[in-house]
This record gives sequence, C-alpha cells and structure tokens, in this order.
Amino acid sequence: MKIGFIGLGIMGRPMVRNLMKAGHEVVVYDIISENVEMMTKEGAKSAGSPKAVAQECEELIITMLPNSPHVKSVVMGENGVLEGAKPGVILIDMSSIDPLASKEIFEACAEKGVRMLDAPVSGGEPKAVDGTLSIMAGGEEEVFRQVKEILLHMGASVVYCGTIGAGNTTKLANQVIVALNIAAVSEAFMLSTKAGVAPEKVFEAIRGGLAGSTVMNAKVPMMLNRNFEPGFKIDLHIKDLNNAISAGHQLGAPLPLTAAVMEMLQTLHADGNGQSDHSALVKYYEKIAGMKLE
Ligand code: NAD
Repeated sequence: MKIGFIGLGIMGRPMVRNLMKAGHEVVVYDIISENVEMMTKEGAKSAGSPKAVAQECEELIITMLPNSPHVKSVVMGENGVLEGAKPGVILIDMSSIDPLASKEIFEACAEKGVRMLDAPVSGGEPKAVDGTLSIMAGGEEEVFRQVKEILLHMGASVVYCGTIGAGNTTKLANQVIVALNIAAVSEAFMLSTKAGVAPEKVFEAIRGGLAGSTVMNAKVPMMLNRNFEPGFKIDLHIKDLNNAISAGHQLGAPLPLTAAVMEMLQTLHADGNGQSDHSALVKYYEKIAGMKLE
C-alpha cells in the first residue's frame, strides 16, 4: 500500500522504517528538511506539503506530530491534508494530543468523507525501532479493523479503546503513570544515595520485586550513566500532563500527584532542560537534595 506519513521526529522515523520493511511504499513530509532527507535516502518518497501527501495517498495517511495545534494545522490548515484528501481515505493520528482536539479533527475529516482514528503509542524510541510499540486506538471499530494489520507493523500490542478520543484518553492515563513513576524512582534513589547505599545496588536489589517497573528498567540506567539524550523530551511530557490536567479539570477528576510532578518538570524546563529526556527529572531531586545520584 502507498502510505502517507507526516512527522519524522524521534518516533516517526523508525515507524516509517518499519512500514517500509513490511513492504509498503511511504510518502513523507516534515518541516525539517534534514528529517525528510534521512528518510528519502532510505527509500521513502517525499512530498512538498501535507496536501501533496494526501493527493498521492488515496488509502492511508499517518501523522506523528508533537501536539494538538500541529495536528490541527497539518490536517485542517492551509495546504493541509484535507485540502488534498480523497473521500474514503483513512487518517490515523498517532501523536499524543488532547482527546477533545481529536474529536474536532474527526468532525472536520468527516465533513470531507475522510475517516479518522486517534492511535497514540507508548514504549518510546526503543520500541518504535523494534516495532513493538503499544498502540491504543479510538474511532469507528470498523475503520480500526481495516488498519489493524498495518498498525501491527509498528506495534506489538494494538488495542481498540472506544470512540474517537479514547486512544488519547488512554494515553493520558499512561503518561500520568510514567511521570509519577519516574518521580517516585528519583525520590527513592536519592534517599538511598544520601544514606550511602550505591544506586547500582539498590537497582539490582529491587528491580525484580514489586517496586520494579518498565520505567525503572529504562530510566535508572540513563540516570546512572548521566545520559539524558531524548528519548522522550521533558517538554513533550509537560505537554501531556497539561492535557491530562485540563481533561481532569473538565471531568472533575482531581490529579494532585500529577500537578506536583508537573511543577517539577516546569522547574527543569525553566532551568534549560526542556529538550532533555524525562529521566532528567532526577536532576530536580539532585538540586533540592544537594547531591548527585552517582
Ligand atoms: P519530535 O519532536 O522528535 O518529532 C516531531 C516531528 O514533527 C519533528 O520532526 C517536527 O519537525 C515535525 N513537525 C512539527 N510540526 C510540523 C508540521 N507543521 N508539519 C510537519 N512536520 C511537523 O517528537 P517525537 O518524540 O517523535 O513525538 C511525536 C509524538 O509522539 C508526540 O506527540 C509525543 O508525545 C509522542 N510520543 C513520543 C514518544 C517518545 O519517546 N519520543 C513516546 C510515545 C509517544
């Protein structure tokens, strides 16, 4: 199949590679020309705008962009997907965005006969590379069934969560748990380090017990190696927690722990760490404890 793919960042590039590996032809677009060049060198075809991508791809277009305003402008804006899309084409937005924005975009798509799913992912860059992401989808179940096989080229788990926006609602829950888990790991490891126990030993001793987690396994080695290359950027996690807190306010679901971690991430952003991996949350604890996790 000829698949359009818009957004070639940390996640988009390996997702495109996996679609090409599975034998699909991929037509790409990104505002950063270096990202486009990287993918065309590997066999993708490029198009000059989201509209041009849509004119070429009559069956399926995927977006993997930072946040709601980017997806809205790429889909609904000037030279956007909807200006070039043929009726019947399926748009899968795999970005993590506000579920309400997914609904707005879905309605604009429906007016043009374009069918849309929201299908954000979890697992980060390593799982995007391996093609083992967890994908959580919202929209019409019939549309989901049509594209499930293609999603399985990028993910190991592909779950239909409900109507449009359900994928992003599920993703917000995921992001709350990940943020709180990184904060809990940072707080606990700072305690044991202050007490003089080597963090490597704490990690080795507890990772297989109840406190162990995928987050701990992925992020503690980064903290110990002082490797804060993203991965998942602090600024993107701020965006997700903003969306979670705003949804929580609208729904009457208080998120006190999320709000606390949000302020830690805001502090790190103000201190110049917005483009660091979210494992750099440990730097917040290092600052308030006056000691490095080493
Ligand atoms: P990124 O910042 O690396 O990439 C985003 C890409 O979108 C960039 O290449 C940028 O140039 C492009 N872009 C922005 N505006 C555009 C526009 N108007 N037209 C075309 N291209 C545009 O981000 P990422 O890490 O790849 O994340 C993408 C999405 O996936 C985000 O919503 C993020 O929250 C989510 N996500 C990321 C991870 C992760 O570990 N990185 C994990 C799960 C989910």
